[in-house]
Amino acid sequence: MKMADLTNKLQQIYYNLLSEFTKLELDKEQIFAKMTEMVLDNFNASFIAFYLYDVRDDCYHLESDSALTDTYVLRQSIRNTSFNMESIFKEFPTEENQFPLYFIPLERALLVISTKDTITNKLNEDIIVETEKFLTIISNILEERTNNRNHQFLFDLSTRLFSENEKNKILTEIVEALHTLYPDFSYSLLLSQDNEAIASLPIKTIEFNDTETNTVISQAFMTGQFQMENHVEEKSTYVYAPLVGKQGVYGVLQMITPSIMTFSNSEIDFINQFSFLAGTAIERATLYENSKLKVNSLSLINDFTQKLNSNLELSEIIKLVKKEIIKVSQPSEVGFIFVDDDLDVQFLGESTMYFKSEEGLTFAKNLCLETMDDPESLFVGQYDRDITFTYKSMMAIPIKHSGYVHGLTIILHEESYYFTFENFKLLETLIQHATLALTNAHLKDKLHKAVITDYLTGLHSRNYLEQKINEDMDTGEKGVLLLFDIDDFKKVNDVYGHHVGDRVIKQISDILKNYCRSMDVPARWGGEELAIYLPNRTLKESEEVAEIIRNQVSTLTDPPVTLSCGISSWVRGEKNSIINLFMRTDKALYKAKNTGKNCIVKN
Ligand code: GH3
Ligand code: MG
Ligand code: MG
Repeated sequence: MKMADLTNKLQQIYYNLLSEFTKLELDKEQIFAKMTEMVLDNFNASFIAFYLYDVRDDCYHLESDSALTDTYVLRQSIRNTSFNMESIFKEFPTEENQFPLYFIPLERALLVISTKDTITNKLNEDIIVETEKFLTIISNILEERTNNRNHQFLFDLSTRLFSENEKNKILTEIVEALHTLYPDFSYSLLLSQDNEAIASLPIKTIEFNDTETNTVISQAFMTGQFQMENHVEEKSTYVYAPLVGKQGVYGVLQMITPSIMTFSNSEIDFINQFSFLAGTAIERATLYENSKLKVNSLSLINDFTQKLNSNLELSEIIKLVKKEIIKVSQPSEVGFIFVDDDLDVQFLGESTMYFKSEEGLTFAKNLCLETMDDPESLFVGQYDRDITFTYKSMMAIPIKHSGYVHGLTIILHEESYYFTFENFKLLETLIQHATLALTNAHLKDKLHKAVITDYLTGLHSRNYLEQKINEDMDTGEKGVLLLFDIDDFKKVNDVYGHHVGDRVIKQISDILKNYCRSMDVPARWGGEELAIYLPNRTLKESEEVAEIIRNQVSTLTDPPVTLSCGISSWVRGEKNSIINLFMRTDKALYKAKNTGKNCIVKN
């Protein structure tokens, strides 16, 4: 056949093939099978093979071959670019009637043909031109089909993803889609937030440290840009596509290929579209969950503030706060500390055991004083200031009102990263809401103490003393009242001045406090007259106490002063009244003054 005829024939073949390809929607395999078949028929050929180049693995892959006899054994893929018999054939028949073999390399393909027709340089060129045209059209159509399929895939996936609010279901859909798209790859979703991940899903929390791989992950995460790296020794390519939403990056999709691969731009585009869709869906679910969480938190806070509104005692408020803290975060220990203007720290009884130990007290006190300097909440997942410290997770939330720190709530757990950030934020809000009630109740507590305490001496007030004696006369068996008056105190004031007089009263008050048991009531009777009520003591026992005090005062005060003391007692069964007790004690004191002072008189 003439050369020009062969070129025409080839054009005709390709034209027919293309119309069948589009009309019958043939796939890639079918079209190339037909192509080799028709070329074999129409050229005087005994054998034809067609290889296509794949950028992903830099190899030529056998797409189709046709032969008059099936004695050829071909290699499925070849890496060489200088083609010869050995690179193509595993076995080649050595029959006599073999036609000459031609290798025709194309831009991204290879034709191998054995034909009786002579392939001149001109024909060779024509074959190249026509086949390239044919392949370009095929590849455009195939690419468009892939694009359409991908679009359809993404569209179907987005319909499924956006009809779902639950994050775990969304993650499951994403993973299933990856299985369908890239069945040979392995992949992980590296997410930036704590996830109560389903164990069956390949989900990891993103880690930021210095390994090379992590740097690439970080880069994808921080920049929101697609990244790729080849791991030559593993023979795989790692692909990182950031899961980007409209408001931020939620993680990175990591894919690992089974061999080193290159991705075409349109494939990278597709992966980016996929990860954007996944990121947007994760974002939507996260926002939805957050809003649900916010609604829950709001109703929790609402309930809580309603309970606070009733006029509660400090200890009851603390109990309420403690209950909520336990409900929200299940800690091991909770401590409440108040601190007053002169930095005196007060621990509340509602704190748990650790805050009653020596170590716990010191720890809490130091933390509280540090918070005074820097009144910010602390949220620590890996507390490592002191390695011997049992608790790794800590939240410390100041009780702060109008910028002033009144105290601190400390919440601890042994496990690292035990509390979630949501826990922390919620408790911070809760304590903020409780602050006003807490500080009011604390103030009320302090005020109450101030009312029953004498400012100069720190002794109880006379009111409080009377109240206690009354209570004891109702419920107790017996009691003794000691009344002290400083001898010749006017002189102290005259000689040393009033402030020295005050100091002496304070010295004597301290001596009194020192000799009191916890149930005794030392009080300032008025001016330089002091008293002690001793519940459940006999007159004799009390006289001993009075004697020790009298003696101590005469030796320990500076300038030295002495005391006169009147004692009187009551016993159940006798006719008792507080006024009677006061009068008798007063009389005894009067007697002591008249019998030389610095002495004790019973009545
Ligand atoms: P006597 O031995 O009889 O008790 O003589 P006295 O000087 O102590 O007399 P009296 O008990 O009547 O004196 C009370 C004086 O104590 C009057 C007042 O100047 C002084 N005084 C009372 N209260 C205070 C006080 O809070 N501070 C000071 N510095 N002096 C006080
Ligand atoms: Mg007096
Ligand atoms: Mg006096």
